[in-house]
Amino acid sequence: MTGISDSFQRPINYLRISVTDRCNLRCVYCMPEEGVTLMSHHDILSYEEIYTVAKVAAGLGINKIRLTGGEPLVRLGLADLVGMLAGIDAIDDISLTTNGILLAQHAAGLKKAGLRRVNISLDTLKPERFGQITRCGKLEDTLQGIAAARAAGLDPVKINMVVMAGVNDDELTDFARKTINDGWHVRFIEHMPVNGDEPAFTRLFSVSEMRKRIETLGKLEPWKVDVGNGPAKYFRLPGARGTVGFITPVTEHFCYQCNRLRLTADGKLRPCLLSEEEIDLREPLRSGASPDELKRLIEKAIASKPESHHLADGKKQKGRPFSQVGG
Ligand code: SAM
Repeated sequence: MTGISDSFQRPINYLRISVTDRCNLRCVYCMPEEGVTLMSHHDILSYEEIYTVAKVAAGLGINKIRLTGGEPLVRLGLADLVGMLAGIDAIDDISLTTNGILLAQHAAGLKKAGLRRVNISLDTLKPERFGQITRCGKLEDTLQGIAAARAAGLDPVKINMVVMAGVNDDELTDFARKTINDGWHVRFIEHMPVNGDEPAFTRLFSVSEMRKRIETLGKLEPWKVDVGNGPAKYFRLPGARGTVGFITPVTEHFCYQCNRLRLTADGKLRPCLLSEEEIDLREPLRSGASPDELKRLIEKAIASKPESHHLADGKKQKGRPFSQVGG
């Protein structure tokens, strides 16, 4: 790996690719009920275009890729893209973030194509509440997706729960118990006030409050994980096979260790999820830019990564919804 760092000496080796802005859920904190204005099919990068970007990025030192969305599994033939990316020598880790609704039918094929691991978003274990938070989903589908991912040998399977005060914080210990009884790896995430019109109920429920609740089950022992050394801090409860992770985007930002770039579904490189700066790759890709020209644009995006975001200052982020930029 050649290796590249940004202006703050952070090594950049991770590319998150949003493959679609479409989603089969309408989670209350992510999208308005009526959905968002969708990009046209022509606006969205083809798999060949995504592959071209990934290949050039790999030449710069990117070795990890995560596919996200929107909901990545609503895009047809995702396993084909995984197979193409797995064929790039320098890429040694391909992962997926999904709501799990369609995972039961795709897990085995994705694994076969080269997917290594998966993060599944799940904010409640109560069927009725699942319907309320997602506005249209069925809990059973996601649970089947989790089971299929584990059966297919995707490893690790991590469950991401966005904790919202007064909405699902009463389920913290239920999720934590799953790490003991079912070997789940659960990551508890602070809700970020980013998507514009999120309801007033989203008072921050901080990780320190989460810890207190979970420690009613036993003392959390720090735990080192081997795969996916992202922003989470990991622990284990006594006797648990699974891990408890905490992600604190609001109360303790982890920008100092940010190693990522994001590619939006319509081909913009975003140096930071929470900044509106974007560098367009689609137009250059479609007008025949050479690999060297694309490389320079990627270098420019890396050089322009901001030092940190400003969520903790109470500044609301505006601009494109998460579903478009790949949360
Ligand atoms: N559809 C896929 C899924 O559900 O995982 C991928 C896209 S979704 C935007 C990616 C992740 O962003 C999900 O885990 C979701 O819970 C999280 N997310 C969206 N809005 C958020 C917010 N305001 N605060 C914290 N996490 C958020």
